[in-house]
Parts: sequence; structure tokens; C-alpha cells
Amino acid sequence: MTSPERARVAFIGLGNMGTPMSRRLIEAGYSVVGFDLAEDARAHLFEAGGSVAPSGAAAVDGAHVVILMLPSSDVVEAVITDPDFDAALRAGSPLIIDMSSSEPVRTKALAESLAQHGLTLIDAPVSGGVTGATAGSLTIMVGGADRDVASAEPLLSVLGRTLHAGTVGSGHAAKALNNLLSATHLWVTSEAVLAGERFGIEPSVLLSIFNGSSGRSGSTENKWPNFILGETYNSGFGLRLMLKDMKIAVNLAEQIGIPSQLGADAVELWSRVADQYPADADHTEVARWLREQTGRNAVAE
Ligand code: NAD
Repeated sequence: MTSPERARVAFIGLGNMGTPMSRRLIEAGYSVVGFDLAEDARAHLFEAGGSVAPSGAAAVDGAHVVILMLPSSDVVEAVITDPDFDAALRAGSPLIIDMSSSEPVRTKALAESLAQHGLTLIDAPVSGGVTGATAGSLTIMVGGADRDVASAEPLLSVLGRTLHAGTVGSGHAAKALNNLLSATHLWVTSEAVLAGERFGIEPSVLLSIFNGSSGRSGSTENKWPNFILGETYNSGFGLRLMLKDMKIAVNLAEQIGIPSQLGADAVELWSRVADQYPADADHTEVARWLREQTGRNAVAE
């Protein structure tokens, strides 16, 4: 890939994650041309020093790399198969990097169909949330051939630490499985903190105990202290996006003959919350829901 000063990056999807990620690329010297359906998202790119294109296809025109940071495989496929977008891809043959949390089996199929037109797609979903995207400390799980992954490495290293998971789709599989763990941890951590509180242990004290013991996780170290204890519920990662990832993981496990009973139960529990909370609810709201189920401030006699 050309050096950052000359490399042009098309960035499609400038939401909670795409905004700080595109800003980091601009700061590192990449020329970023972006597109998002939402006007405020486009404005964020402009404020960060990027160029806003009138459409996804216009953003891709002349790009060396196309980054997709979109909600789901449905949206990724809709964007890529748009005739104008497709024509722009075929004209320039940029490397396509799907950094969204997409479905691994669909990613493989998409990469195969693009390869028939000489186009390369690798998957590079991330963990680390808005905080990691802002700091450039994301964990990036990459799926693709060695040569393609190596060519993306200089750009991806601006955003975080890359781990090559395997062939195309492997990054998306790893990401979904990671989020199934993360969501399950968050649920059971919330139940444990509420039970400890009912017994009379201060939640912050209990979290410190977990963090010095074998019960620690991203939920005890980050989510509960930063977004739940203070009741802000503003991690920047949507409840429905988490549920989407959990379903991807559980379906994948089922398809390959390693069914996840606990994972399936977690999907059922999270779905109950999603049914009752607004579309834009943060995923940390599951702790609020659990608290509401159990009642506040009831301490053991
Ligand atoms: P988001 O909803 O904040 O952003 C998605 C953006 O895509 C929105 O701005 C939306 O307007 C835009 N969009 C939707 N359809 C489009 C289209 N057809 N063309 C152009 N733009 C379109 O979501 P997010 O939190 O930024 O997450 C993006 C992806 O990253 C998701 O797959 C999510 O699962 C994953 N992810 C999120 C986090 C997090 O903490 N937020 C962490 C890791 C991974």
C-alpha cells in the first residue's frame, strides 16, 4: 500500500466507531473520504479534517482502501452490491476491509464473489469500544490471506493491535464468539453484583474483590465501574448490536456442530431486554433491567 500521505481511504459508516477511527487515520496522514447516511455523522468527519462524499460510490472513486464500519452483514452486502458502488470498486480495485461485526459465513461468500471480479475483501472487526477507537488501542481480529493482511497492517496499526485469526471470515467468527463471552459475563456479573448488594456488600467493593480474583472480566474491570455504577449507561455500544453478535456466534456454533447451550440461553435473556428497551439503548442497560426486575435497595435482613 502507498504511504499514508498519498493513500486515499474511503470510509463508509461514520457512527460511534467510524467517527473516532476515521479521525485517527486523518491524524496519521491518510486522506479520508467518507460517507454515511446520517448527516450528523458526515459532519463529524468534516470537522475532523476529512472529505465528505455525496455517496458511497463517490467515496470509493480513486480510493486505495475501502473501510466498511457498518451495523451488519445485511448493510455491508447492500452497500457493496449497489450498482454504482460496485462499478467504482471494479474501476479502482481497492483493498476492501470490512471492520464491521458481520457474519463469518456471509463474509466468506462475499469475498469469494468479489474475487471473481479481481477484488479482495478481508475482515477486520474490532474490540475495545469507543474508548479504544479514540485511543487507537483496538484489538483488530483479521481474516484473510497473509499477503492481503500484511498490506493492510500499516493502516490497521494506526487503529490498534492486529491479530491474524486465519482465512477470510475468521476475524468475524472470532469477534462474534468474543462478544458472546462478553455478553454472558455482563449478565452474570450484573446478577452477582445485585446479589452481593442485597446481602449488604457495596457494589464498588465487590467489584474490587472480583477484579483481584478469578471472577474478573471486561464487565468487572470496565463496564460496571465506568457505565453502570454511575448509572450513565453510555458505553457507545448498542444493545441490539450486542444481541446481533451473540446470535451470530450461537448460529455459527450450531452450524459447525458445537452447539452452545449457555450461549443460546444468554440470547434468550438478552432478547427479553431488547424487546422492552428502545432501539438505541446501550448494551449496558441490561444491568438496569436486571435491577428493575429485582427491586432497588432491598438489603438482607
Ligand atoms: P453505529 O450504529 O453507531 O454506526 C453505524 C453507522 O452506519 C451509522 O452512522 C449509520 O448511519 C451508518 N449506516 C447505516 N447504513 C448505511 C449505509 N447503507 N450507508 C452508509 N452508512 C450507513 O454503530 P457502531 O457502534 O459504530 O458499530 C459499527 C460496527 O462496529 C457494528 O457492526 C458493531 O457491531 C461494531 N462494533 C461496535 C462497537 C462499539 O463499541 N460501538 C465495538 C466493536 C464493534
